[in-house]
Amino acid sequence: MVEKLRKTEEEWRRELTPEQYRILREKGTEPAFTGEYAHSKEHGVFKCAACGQELFLSDTKYDSGSGWPSFYQPAASDRVEMHDDTSHGMRRVEVTCSRCGSHLGHVFPDGPRPTGMRYCINSASLKLDDK
Ligand code: FE
Repeated sequence: MVEKLRKTEEEWRRELTPEQYRILREKGTEPAFTGEYAHSKEHGVFKCAACGQELFLSDTKYDSGSGWPSFYQPAASDRVEMHDDTSHGMRRVEVTCSRCGSHLGHVFPDGPRPTGMRYCINSASLKLDDK
């Protein structure tokens, strides 16, 4: 089990950029095709931009054409949590970081093999560690 990291919104606001705060803590979305990692083919580990937990491996990143970084699975099943999201008149499944609870994006059942899932994640929620 992942140990939870809890911080006040005031602390998050201090540590994150306004754009990161809007997306990670207020469940925002960056415009398609604008994020730093939308087209990235670099190798490494994508960590949570808020708490640093390892979330996705570049080996599982693929070009979904959506304009957001897309992965077919998380680095480990316990790194992310899923939540029903009925906001904006849609029925979607929200993906959050299991450690700090920050919003990452959504997951859709239209991904490639082997999982058939598409984890559609905001670049602003990620930080690539290429070491
Ligand atoms: Fe996190």
